[in-house]
Amino acid sequence: MPDLYKMITADTLLNLKWEDLAPYYGDLEQEPITKEDIENWMARWTIISEIQDELYNRAYVATSVNTADEEAEKRFDAYMEEIYPNVMEAEQNLKKKLIASGLTVAGFEIPMRNMRAQAELFREENIPLRVEEEKLANQFDKIIGAQTVQWKGAEKTVRQMEVVLRDRDSQTRLEGWKTMADRQLEDRKAINDLWVQFMELREKIAANAGLPSFREFRWKELLRFDYCVADCKSFQHAIEEAVVPVANRLAERRKKALGLDRLKYCDTLVDLADAEPLKPFSDVDELKRGAKAIFSKVHPQFGAYFSQMEDEGHLDLENRKNKAAGAYCTDFAYTKRPFVFANAVGIHDDVQSVLHEGGHAFHSFESFKLPYFQQRAESAIPIEFAEVASMGMEFLSLRYLSKKHGGFYSNSEAARAQSEHLEQSLLFWPYMAMVDAFQHWAYENPQAGKDPDACDEKWSALEDRFRPYIDWSGYENVKMTGWHRKPHIHQTPFYYVEYGLAQLGAAQIWLHAAQDENRAVAMYRNALSLGGTVSLPGLFAAAGIKFSFDEQTLRQAAERMEQAILSFE
Ligand SMILES: [Zn+2]
Repeated sequence: MPDLYKMITADTLLNLKWEDLAPYYGDLEQEPITKEDIENWMARWTIISEIQDELYNRAYVATSVNTADEEAEKRFDAYMEEIYPNVMEAEQNLKKKLIASGLTVAGFEIPMRNMRAQAELFREENIPLRVEEEKLANQFDKIIGAQTVQWKGAEKTVRQMEVVLRDRDSQTRLEGWKTMADRQLEDRKAINDLWVQFMELREKIAANAGLPSFREFRWKELLRFDYCVADCKSFQHAIEEAVVPVANRLAERRKKALGLDRLKYCDTLVDLADAEPLKPFSDVDELKRGAKAIFSKVHPQFGAYFSQMEDEGHLDLENRKNKAAGAYCTDFAYTKRPFVFANAVGIHDDVQSVLHEGGHAFHSFESFKLPYFQQRAESAIPIEFAEVASMGMEFLSLRYLSKKHGGFYSNSEAARAQSEHLEQSLLFWPYMAMVDAFQHWAYENPQAGKDPDACDEKWSALEDRFRPYIDWSGYENVKMTGWHRKPHIHQTPFYYVEYGLAQLGAAQIWLHAAQDENRAVAMYRNALSLGGTVSLPGLFAAAGIKFSFDEQTLRQAAERMEQAILSFE
């Protein structure tokens, strides 16, 4: 067998076939795991896992940087058809083998715990049900994807219409919003029907796994070892007590600034400054220069990482024809390089995206130093903390947005950008609480949860509880169907509180940095280097912050964020 590991380079990697990988997996499967040799066995498993992971990520990146590249598309499809199922099975076999051996290596307790939980949850008879669930999720996508409206003589997707909600003319915002909402309400029955199917299917999945409800199933599947249902409810309560009053005050301020006597949903996103939108850069080189300067201010090593990514061609930031939408960070595990993708067009959101994805990229750089792939794979790092890396970087960057720090803005523009970031972050918590509370209610009360009318009523009550500052009168149907417009509720149940928890972590890093920036950044960086080797509370503690659901921590963060917003006026 040729020494595959020595042959692979970034260039040859993409040409690998399953036949090239199979013998190495086969070897690891055959060979007994012994106390003497386990480190060697694990090291070889790491290499083959890294290679298949990098192969997947590179194949994916190639399709997203040029959606018209037929070669890349074929290669990606071939990967999915020929390599992916085989790799999944082979990886699963090695996990089972390791668990059965009863042996482990240092720093592997957490990955081992995760593997055991996944193995416990696995049921053969759930495979076709998960496929069924996937199909329902696709149907949901189809319904949403087909939602287009006529707006000012052109056909627009509902997503494109979101720009109208930022229009400075209140009448235009209202008309745009009504146009969107009317179109969304046309699918009310279709989404209700789909929801009932989702709920029934999920009851069966949970029952197959011997669990009392789908919530318990998801809890295990999402590897939530460090918090329970009661914690999520405490968090909702804390948001109600500590954040909603702040949101109410910000809403009053907003009404005044916009000269409105009632705040409708369509007035909640528009920029309060009576000025043109921020224009941070005119070309992507300027964006890179600014981002590099900001990262360097946070820590010289972050600036150096970003420069390295630029020099090695691992930044693809500009919007152009034939590029997939959105922004992401992925990594190449074998060559140990992160890759950042964005669609910058020259607006403030682009700056925010690059700072966010930069945080993810530095997380990869720091954790590449860990010896085993299963300690640092994307799937090994809890999202509750992965998003602290990215949101934390956004918060740490706030003070360096202005030109005097090498960033993008005049002082007053930087104040606007900071203010908007803090306001939107604050308003996110109540919304997140609604999304989470709704799902707890639905799966706790499956009969009502399956009844779309009861769902409408519940969502409406949650609006009153968490967003009392929005005046929905005259738009009750839009109000009560809000749960239709959050894909997570339908497609990735219970997956959302992660962002609320991560944001509280990021806000704590920001508070810490206001007191002692060097220490805050050093701890943040150290926590990134731990990958997935310690528990979630352990990762937060390493970053100098609390993994918390309590009112006090939240109140402290929310009030400081509010003070900062007011100080910019
Ligand atoms: Zn992220």
